[in-house]
Amino acid sequence: MIGQVAGGSAMYQAMSSLGHAAESGYQGPITLGKAKPGASVVVLGAGLAGMLAAVELRNAGYKVSVLEYQNRAGGRSWTLRGGDRYTELDGTTQNVGFAKGNYLNPGPWRVPHNHHAMMDLYRRYGVQLEPFNQVNHSAYLHQTRAFGGKPQRFHHISTDVRGHVTELLSKATQQGALDASITAEDREKLLAGLRSWGALDKNYRYTANLHASEFRGFDVPPGGGLMSPAKASEPIDLHTLLDSKMWSQIGMGNMHEFHTTIFQPVGGMDTLPQAMARDLGGLIQYNAKVSKVEQNASSVTVHYSDARHPGAMRKISADWCVCTIPASILSQMDIQVSSAMRAGIDSLPYASSNKIGLEFKRRFWEEDEHIYGGISLTDLPIGQISYPSTDYMRPGPAVLLGAYTMETNSSYRLASLSPKERIRMALEYGSQIHPQYLKEFKCGVAVAWHRVPWVQGCYGKWSDELRAQHYQAMAQVDGRIVLAGEHLSYLPAWQEGAVLSSLDAIQRLHAKAISV
Ligand SMILES: Cc1cc2nc3c(=O)[nH]c(=O)nc-3n(C[C@H](O)[C@H](O)[C@H](O)COP(=O)(O)OP(=O)(O)OC[C@H]3O[C@@H](n4cnc5c(N)ncnc54)[C@H](O)[C@@H]3O)c2cc1C
Repeated sequence: MIGQVAGGSAMYQAMSSLGHAAESGYQGPITLGKAKPGASVVVLGAGLAGMLAAVELRNAGYKVSVLEYQNRAGGRSWTLRGGDRYTELDGTTQNVGFAKGNYLNPGPWRVPHNHHAMMDLYRRYGVQLEPFNQVNHSAYLHQTRAFGGKPQRFHHISTDVRGHVTELLSKATQQGALDASITAEDREKLLAGLRSWGALDKNYRYTANLHASEFRGFDVPPGGGLMSPAKASEPIDLHTLLDSKMWSQIGMGNMHEFHTTIFQPVGGMDTLPQAMARDLGGLIQYNAKVSKVEQNASSVTVHYSDARHPGAMRKISADWCVCTIPASILSQMDIQVSSAMRAGIDSLPYASSNKIGLEFKRRFWEEDEHIYGGISLTDLPIGQISYPSTDYMRPGPAVLLGAYTMETNSSYRLASLSPKERIRMALEYGSQIHPQYLKEFKCGVAVAWHRVPWVQGCYGKWSDELRAQHYQAMAQVDGRIVLAGEHLSYLPAWQEGAVLSSLDAIQRLHAKAISV
């Protein structure tokens, strides 16, 4: 229901609040202690979970090898720039045509300041962060069946909702409707608070006046010299607001994870994984597609092939294995683990998601509409438009996020189309919000996460029932193998979840390794 009313992004936020995500429980860097002399570990997957495991185990003295299917590290922490090529599951290849310096983060794009393990990693690797603009009061809210399809500024809707609600609550308070719930003294304090929060007049009414306009914006803004004096703007009436459903779009920034300050790495999300891969140097073997994992009482053997030239199988053995391959892929592989762990791997569905990056010849959203970063939300199948949080006012082409869908029907619909058709759809729908789209469009790239060969989904979508049934078994050290990654965390779809899961898994693996 949340998804239908408020769109996919709200669904994602709601998921976080339904106990699937919370502030990080990170307690600071771990110290594993010393590995047994000669002990070895093979790590599967060079996303953040795999690379962090490899770094910490190497530092503890293990002989570490990492096998990674792709020709790059980072997994979902990925950035597409001009000159990159990306091939989907069915072989369709996109050549990214963005201008130099422009990019799209098709996966993770923002890092909450309260994701402490991630913040520590950025510090540790000296990766520069810049603010990610989540809530922009000048961005738009858009519902196709409200205001004749005309987008509304966030500041108008949010101020008017607050104004009307505080006026109603003031009325109820003054009429004694809350007398059973509050003391007479609290009643006066509440009224003072409501008046202040809602920009109400002295009679506790939300009306067109210069004070309310300081919050919602003016019809004629204050000027200088002989310019006309400021003119108050007219609030939208409560009935129209309720009918518009735009009230469902204003709360996103209140979520703990979206509180100021949210960050993004300067230059793209792949800067951290690149730094970690440099740190690991020759320990990572790229283009190594794992297809089978066996174990016995004394070792683990991993079978893999060259992803560029499938055919000849190779194998590598180690004392222990940390497997961070997403469950969506692992369920298609032959891995020798307990039937309980296998049942979990086979049961975990992955959420659908799409991102579409569009490059335009100029920053018309800044130049024409005074929108500098932030997100416009819509009930159209594109879900949202997010404007770049960097290089404000830079002349020349810029990339915005022209669609971000998560778990809505339109997410599956978009994934069923070719990248070209997806981009065409994003342009067609987006032009209902920004008519400049068609004239200014330069090029685009579309990523449908169910079509990404090495993950085939966006994130592990635990329901409470599934988690109760399978999570514990999947997170155990099973003989000589432990699983880790975003899918084994209570922070699904966050890098923090991947990193916390990795740290927890290797601590338990190490404890076992030194005890046998
Ligand atoms: C659309 C989207 C938006 C997101 N937004 C955010 C955000 O804003 N902020 C945030 O913090 N997080 C976000 N996330 C979540 C974040 O991307 C993940 O939680 C995190 O990157 C997962 O890391 P991981 O190491 O567990 O898995 P991955 O990064 O998926 O790493 C797994 C690795 O295994 C490799 N692999 C797969 N199959 C094989 C095989 N057969 N053999 C060898 N290797 C294999 C893959 O190539 C990959 O490198 C988002 C994710 C998506 C998809």
